[in-house]
Amino acid sequence: MQEEAAAKSAGGMAGAPDERGPGSAAGEQGQQQHVACQVFPERLAQGNPQQGFLSSFFTNNQKCQLMLLKTLQTNPYVKLLLDAMKHSGCAVNKERHFSCEDCDGNVSGGFDASTSQIVLCQNNIGSQAHMNRVVTHELIHAFDHCRAHVHWFTDVRHLACSEVRAANLSGDCSLVNEIFRLHFGLKQHHQTCVRDRAILSILAVRNISKEVAQKAVDEVFESCFNDHEPFGRIPHNKTYARYAHRDFQNRDRYYSNI
Ligand SMILES: [Zn+2]
Repeated sequence: MQEEAAAKSAGGMAGAPDERGPGSAAGEQGQQQHVACQVFPERLAQGNPQQGFLSSFFTNNQKCQLMLLKTLQTNPYVKLLLDAMKHSGCAVNKERHFSCEDCDGNVSGGFDASTSQIVLCQNNIGSQAHMNRVVTHELIHAFDHCRAHVHWFTDVRHLACSEVRAANLSGDCSLVNEIFRLHFGLKQHHQTCVRDRAILSILAVRNISKEVAQKAVDEVFESCFNDHEPFGRIPHNKTYARYAHRDFQNRDRYYSNI
């Protein structure tokens, strides 16, 4: 399923790439983390039940389901995205649109556009905070899929745009950002982190060169980095996300009154 032939449509891209400096040392360090997302993961066959039935009280699948439930009910990023999708006519259903599965490698999750399903890698998501970030990241892809006709496979820039938005808005870069801001005062770190993560996410799912991925990200970066929908701002932490959710609800109320 990977390596769609159409992915190599570099010939369709016009214009020179916007040259940016190489990632700073801080940017490289941020990348030591694993790639948090795979848009079209190679899904493993299911039916590989728990090994050793006394190894833990809950199976990975049960833990995944419980953490997912808590994320859906309490995380402000996720609550906003769910509201926004409902508002756009794409109501999300826990049973229908999420699937806890074992995944290859260190992938945390993915969005399967063919089924509109979010895959959560139950063998790699070990904490509630991680679950929150993965669900947020994948819901941003689902939101993009809902609101626009995204050519995930035929135009790598569409994928690049959604990866930039997901890295920018999900908090993928915010944690790292806080640490580096504290220690090194690097104002540009967030932007560097978003760009690097978007490139890594693309390379995880497309058989293209790093240069082609960088070019695609650079071509869309400015407009997609500044597209904060449905948050209206970069939600650097849960408090921001709560404000964004409140603003979205007010916006919704305002629209429905006119
Ligand atoms: Zn992604």
